[in-house]
Amino acid sequence: MNFNEVKAMKKAFKTVKDRQRLHPPPDIDEKIKRLKAVRENSVGNSELLARAVEKVQENGFRLFMAESKDEAAGIILRETGDEKLVVKSKSNVTKEIGLTSTLESRGITVVETDIGDRILQVLQAGPSHPTGPAAHISAKVIAEKLTEYHQKKIRQTPEEIVSFVRDEIRGYMEEAQVGITGANAVTAEEGSIVLAHNEGNIFEVMRKKKHIVVTAIDKIYPSVEDALNMLKVICYKATGALIPSFIEVISGVSKTADVEKKFFKGIHAPSEVVVILLDNKRTEMIEKGFRELLYCIDCGNCLLHCPMYNTVGNFFAEEKYLGGKGLAYKSLSEEEVNKKLEFCLTCGQCRKNCPLSIDVPGIIRSIRSESLPGEIYYFLKSHLLWLYYMTRLKLS
Ligand code: SF4
Ligand code: SF4
Repeated sequence: MNFNEVKAMKKAFKTVKDRQRLHPPPDIDEKIKRLKAVRENSVGNSELLARAVEKVQENGFRLFMAESKDEAAGIILRETGDEKLVVKSKSNVTKEIGLTSTLESRGITVVETDIGDRILQVLQAGPSHPTGPAAHISAKVIAEKLTEYHQKKIRQTPEEIVSFVRDEIRGYMEEAQVGITGANAVTAEEGSIVLAHNEGNIFEVMRKKKHIVVTAIDKIYPSVEDALNMLKVICYKATGALIPSFIEVISGVSKTADVEKKFFKGIHAPSEVVVILLDNKRTEMIEKGFRELLYCIDCGNCLLHCPMYNTVGNFFAEEKYLGGKGLAYKSLSEEEVNKKLEFCLTCGQCRKNCPLSIDVPGIIRSIRSESLPGEIYYFLKSHLLWLYYMTRLKLS
């Protein structure tokens, strides 16, 4: 990310912060309180997980537990069968397991259907925010790169870019037979998959012949009501809006028994829903005392307020692992301290602005194994780095 991109990102972040300030939901504190209680009770709760697994299967979904990234990617490859095209929606877990590169290495074309993610896919660029991934790239740069890629003149206006990308995606969505989505929640009481979106692309992706849901064991919620409460908090913290445009609650495949009570599946689509629940070191993280990190709902509010991220952008990130929380997560899941953690100022702004009050600076200190001399070293180093980049940002 260059300094122009950092400035564009900060501008986009300011818009979200202004929206949050101007239109706070009247009962946001109550919602956050309820969400905290639910996360504390659900994350690492093996009984709740077992209940969710049972209910999901009762609903007719095929469910797989995947211990590792490779196991999850292998299941998806098998489920994709002979198909050569899959369409997918935004999903952090598919990024975590490196799904796109695995499928592409087997000759399968993977097309992102979220406008921002498709732009990043074509530009081969990384995200700057979990829900507004292309916030750091100007319309001018996007139009130039799309023009080069498609060999077709695209004007440098947001309207033209969005309409061009939408039309391009639409062709792939009509052709594909397999759709892959993430899930914001899997509920134990109903065995439902809960998914939120604003663009409407998930309507199409989940109505393919086969819908593959790739999610993780920390996404279990007691009930649909708890999941809806979480979605309202995410939406407000991520975008400043009260509720996403669309919320899908999927509790079965397309089916009918309308004629002589004979049962048919796949009347419209999908006729098959496959659910993959990934562990990938989450259980280990809990055992090692980092359970709190899994409370995260990926709202990105910590990034909006992180002074280092707002100065250096993705120098303080690694692929989808953005800012202090992302890098802490990457370090724990890969059992290797990420070098970029030295950028963290341990200022606590992330914790203060996190709806779950996750102690990211405390976790980072613990990962960096700081004793007192270490703490002084990291404090000085991170602040000097910050001053250096702040000066360069101001002068650029
Ligand atoms: S503690 Fe670290 S990650 Fe959190 S806001 Fe400060 S610099 Fe960013
Ligand atoms: S750490 Fe907190 S603020 Fe940051 S993405 Fe997770 S829930 Fe949101």
